Amino acid sequence: MKTFIELNLEPLILQAISNMGFEEPTPIQEMTIPIAMMGQDLIGRAQTGTGKTAAYGIPLVDKCELEYEQIQAIVITPTRELAMQVAEELNKIGQYKKIRSIPIYGGQDIERQIRALKNRPHIIVGTPGRLMDHLRRRTIRLQQIRMVVLDEADEMLNMGFKEDIEEILKQAPPKRQNLLFSATMPPHIMALAQEFMNEPEIIHIDPREVTVSNTEQQYIEIPERQKLDVMCRLLDIQNPDLAIVFGRTKRRVDEIAEALSKRGYSAEGIHGDLSQNMRDTVMRKFKAGIIDILVATDVAARGLDITGVTHIYNFDVPQDPEGYVHRIGRTGRAGETGLATTFVTSREINHLKFIESIIKHKITRKPMPTANDALAGLQRVVVDNLLATADKRDIVQYKALAESLLEEHDSVTLMAAALKMLTRETADNPMERLTDAPPIPLKSLEKTKEAPKGFRRKRSPSKKSNGSRKPRKDY
Ligand code: ADP
Ligand code: MG
Repeated sequence: MKTFIELNLEPLILQAISNMGFEEPTPIQEMTIPIAMMGQDLIGRAQTGTGKTAAYGIPLVDKCELEYEQIQAIVITPTRELAMQVAEELNKIGQYKKIRSIPIYGGQDIERQIRALKNRPHIIVGTPGRLMDHLRRRTIRLQQIRMVVLDEADEMLNMGFKEDIEEILKQAPPKRQNLLFSATMPPHIMALAQEFMNEPEIIHIDPREVTVSNTEQQYIEIPERQKLDVMCRLLDIQNPDLAIVFGRTKRRVDEIAEALSKRGYSAEGIHGDLSQNMRDTVMRKFKAGIIDILVATDVAARGLDITGVTHIYNFDVPQDPEGYVHRIGRTGRAGETGLATTFVTSREINHLKFIESIIKHKITRKPMPTANDALAGLQRVVVDNLLATADKRDIVQYKALAESLLEEHDSVTLMAAALKMLTRETADNPMERLTDAPPIPLKSLEKTKEAPKGFRRKRSPSKKSNGSRKPRKDY
């Protein structure tokens, strides 16, 4: 295992990486960075969540020259969300070297992007359609670029961007370095690679070596019509900080999100039919913790890197092992632990066993949680909240009342009655928040992970104070 220092990176980049909290390269980074640094073409294949962004981002930033204020590299990504995330990560890698990256994507005012381009970024991260727009308007020129990256190449081809990509590549100088990253490598990717790459070195990190070791995986055999009830029970028991629920189709995602909201959970859905704006808003709320549960289709969630997701629920079993690994890759990232639960109907058990055999990871069978399990979960939340309230000083007004009650009644009986009332209230309104919260201007939340004042998260104080986010697995 090499260290970042052994990869011969510039000190300013080493400093940035250490500031980002990366201790050692991931396998794909260890394998690809030296090759990319030599200027060679490269195909990197590894599962989601294995650090592919930095695998190309580090060499890209390393090779960019600060004084040369031209676009020196472009990264092409399938979605707007990914473009933003990649640009953000590149800016972090380049924070001390002062290499500037900007995202360019559809849905954002083009004039605004043109103004951003006037800042002379060194790297552009864009979606194919919008990049084409800029090339046509000549607001972006590729004559000076030396490096091209295709990120999530499989996804881009699936989304029909092949012609756009070819067109973009035609406008780049033929003498350039090409990097292609993808989680899967179907034949049409190899064909594309043949077309525009120059004897690429192929690095394949076997999924078995990496995947999802930080994530505990379970399944529950369950009839279709009980899924929603059991989903709610699991949420009550496991009390996730941030959870993603996967549904099979867009329609399904809407239904699940709506049903969960109706039952008082703070859930919203995200899928391809939503406008870019709505998707952005939902993502922002999820990242800020205003909603705890993101309901998503595979496509909408692909490539998203959201830290702090503690629980994944496969409301519907994924179609194939790749899909399963992609979904599970949304949690347990970079050293955190996670818990993934998959609902399987009896007809789908063989399919799950197939997935299990391919990913070579045991998916443990769990019984359906009972209403009693859920009640115990709720009670834990209530007790946590009660203790948190007792810790604060603003209960003075209640103390006299408490004392007078205790003169005439037994303390255990009173306590039990109070707990019962609180538990009922929590059960009726599981996320038991928002009682007196003012409307929240979203912008103000962008930078904070914590909920604003007056906004009661159900997160218990002990979790908050030590910052650990261990999911509950104990039912
Ligand atoms: P991929 O593109 O392969 O799906 P990402 O590049 O999105 O994966 O990385 C997944 C997460 O891992 C990100 O939060 C990223 O910041 C983090 N990460 C990447 N490289 C490292 C590293 N060497 N050490 C620790 N965390 C890392
Ligand atoms: Mg990626």
